[in-house]
Amino acid sequence: MRPILATISQKALQHNLAVVKKYAPHSKVMAALKANGYGHGIERIAHGLSAADGFAVLGIDEAITLREMGFEQPILLLEGVFHAESLAIVNAYRLSLVIHCSGQIDMLEQSPYRHPFNIFLKMNTGMNRLGFVPDDYLNALARVTKLTPNVTLMTHFAAADEPAGADAALAIFEQTTKGLPYPSSLANSAAILCQPQTHSDWVRPGIMLYGATPARHTSATEFGLKPVMQLTSEIIAIQTLKTGETLGYGNRFTASKPMRVGVVACGYADGYPRHAGQYSGNDILQGVPVVVGGKKTQTIGRVSMDMLFVDLTELPQADIGAPVELWGNTISVDAVAEACGTIGYELLCAVAPRVPFKMIE
Ligand SMILES: *Cc1c(COP(=O)(O)O)cnc(C)c1O
Repeated sequence: MRPILATISQKALQHNLAVVKKYAPHSKVMAALKANGYGHGIERIAHGLSAADGFAVLGIDEAITLREMGFEQPILLLEGVFHAESLAIVNAYRLSLVIHCSGQIDMLEQSPYRHPFNIFLKMNTGMNRLGFVPDDYLNALARVTKLTPNVTLMTHFAAADEPAGADAALAIFEQTTKGLPYPSSLANSAAILCQPQTHSDWVRPGIMLYGATPARHTSATEFGLKPVMQLTSEIIAIQTLKTGETLGYGNRFTASKPMRVGVVACGYADGYPRHAGQYSGNDILQGVPVVVGGKKTQTIGRVSMDMLFVDLTELPQADIGAPVELWGNTISVDAVAEACGTIGYELLCAVAPRVPFKMIE
């Protein structure tokens, strides 16, 4: 077996869920497990989050998995159903539905199922992705409440990590829903951590449960979160470069001094970003932080499909078999993401199926 491994900490999951409850003590928690639990594996993480009051997923298959694992909490389909035929499964598995457009209300009105569907009616408060615009919202609500009394008023913020970043959307939501006798759900991780006035009845944390940050300027550690996934591997070969020699595909890295280089068993087919590092044209100016044998160094050269290079010039004791942390406890996934021009969300979701996982306490 290749030495690459993703280790999932149950304790970190439980800790991060407790952090959600600390920030939003009066709200119920709808844990977002979409995208296969943000790349962690929905079945691996659901037990660590069993204290959540509900789960939010995208795919019906994910919802069925959770029900069949025995979870009795509400399970919310974040985009509702795409076809009326899916309502049979929604009915059989007692799933909750986001309703974001009138076509989805048509499906409910025409469906033969008379179990009281549990609906989260979504308002578009400025993100312009999904939901009814405020002018259409009350009409949609009237149609939905003819079908079921179980309605939660919902919106989603585009910029809750910025100071006052939810204010305009929140004002629109509150103005439109004023006096309505229904619970509401507004806050994603960024709003949970940065906008306490948005917490309301149900919060919907995603990324913070996994121990990464939703905010550009505040780290996960500063929010009190712990990384759930540690992606590790080992050095499988050592190279020495003379001044002027090059490294890897495209000869994109040239040694400006004698260098010692480690080859790590992790590449873009494992989910490590190929565009790792800061570029100027084709030249990599700066690598991505990485830990070898407990010491920080950086990647160099291009990431290939199955391997990447790390600079061991200052780490002469690191040899074949030395442990490598790509991200986890020492280097946050957010730090790796920042050095790659992306966000922790994308890296976590992109961990490839071929990477073996291990669960720890
Ligand atoms: C994914 C998602 C969330 C969770 O977002 P995070 O930024 O990961 O906390 C909340 N609400 C909706 C509608 C989502 O799609």
